[in-house]
Amino acid sequence: MDDSVARRLRPFGTTIFTEMSALAQRTGALNLGQGFPDEDGPAELVEAAAAAMRAGRNQYAPLAGVPELRRAVAAHQRRRYGLEVDPDAGVQVTFGATEAIAAALLGLLEPGEAVVALEPTYDSYGAAVAMAGGILRPVTLHAPEFALDLERLEAAAAGARILLLNTPHNPTGRVLTQAELEGVARICREHDLIAITDEVYEQLVYDDAVHVPLATLPGMAERTLTISSAGKAFSFTGWKIGWCSGPPRLVAAARAAKQFMTFAGGTPLQHAVAHGLDHAERLTTPLAAQLQANRDALADGLTSAGFALSRRSAGTYFLNADAAPLGVTDAAAWCRELPHRAGVVAIPASAFHASPDSAPTLVRFAFCKSPQTIAAAVERLQRLRGAG
Ligand code: PMP
Ligand code: GLN
Repeated sequence: MDDSVARRLRPFGTTIFTEMSALAQRTGALNLGQGFPDEDGPAELVEAAAAAMRAGRNQYAPLAGVPELRRAVAAHQRRRYGLEVDPDAGVQVTFGATEAIAAALLGLLEPGEAVVALEPTYDSYGAAVAMAGGILRPVTLHAPEFALDLERLEAAAAGARILLLNTPHNPTGRVLTQAELEGVARICREHDLIAITDEVYEQLVYDDAVHVPLATLPGMAERTLTISSAGKAFSFTGWKIGWCSGPPRLVAAARAAKQFMTFAGGTPLQHAVAHGLDHAERLTTPLAAQLQANRDALADGLTSAGFALSRRSAGTYFLNADAAPLGVTDAAAWCRELPHRAGVVAIPASAFHASPDSAPTLVRFAFCKSPQTIAAAVERLQRLRGAG
């Protein structure tokens, strides 16, 4: 029987982000689809990267990552969250969070074991679980509140090996509350799950939302591998510098797989990100404030264009709008027409579900774009209503 990775990946096809960004390029539409900023991050990080290149830091990094970045990750976790990680055995630098997720699953999962994840699910999760030969057990967050149903989580956790938790959550913009996290932690402890947490939007939370790493809850530090990335925190998504941190046995498992995927790279960028993490609070606070203002402008604009928004996104780059009031019944088809009809690209929420019939009228819009881009997109979407 053909059980190649390619066969297992066939159902995942080409990612919706690739498809929709290509459509934006072809049509010249405003791209509120794939989550990347249209303005670069802090100039001082570009300078730090250039300085590292000029200083000759252009050869392979050590497998674990350059010591400066591992120290900066450990210092960030201690300063911000009170988490103690060993900068040598407890931190692994990766090619973005994507590689950290794949390496962790490949390193930790036995074929046939189950991984629980919140659905809608970030696109690489299902594919990475499939590569590792595992089985994804989604626990759905339902619109409009996207609340976590702990009873369902508990049912899914029975007999599973890993919980792959994303908060702040892409695509819903939910930031799990302390009470939800306590429930998640209890379930992990009672079912002896390893937690892999995807916290790439940890710096990007709005209003009174607070990001709490699962690893800070009682009994969780020893069973949690925490993943993050510089792409979102510093608006350099193309640098692809990510990392995982936690107990040495979990980091070692991810490292074992990562070693033979990419070994080590991006040396000068790792040095720049070390500088960024050392100054994370100063550098990311203005970005979060700008994103919050963008979110408000987009939410207000979409509401006036006739979309239904039940709740504002509390974090991430994204908000979800219901296009049903515009007469939309199939958001996936509608999003594929939208660039042609209105010159705007957005992502159908169904793309983040195992069943394509889920969330049929929800659309994810990215607000990590310039205020001018958001205003222009809103204006185009408002015209749709008149056009019927
Ligand atoms: N996890 C989530 C929830 C994301 O939205 C993304 C996309 N940026 C990633 C992981 C991947 O991060 P990276 O670009 O660092 O690989
Ligand atoms: N994280 C980005 C998003 O959710 C996409 C990254 C990618 O294209 N893999 O839009």
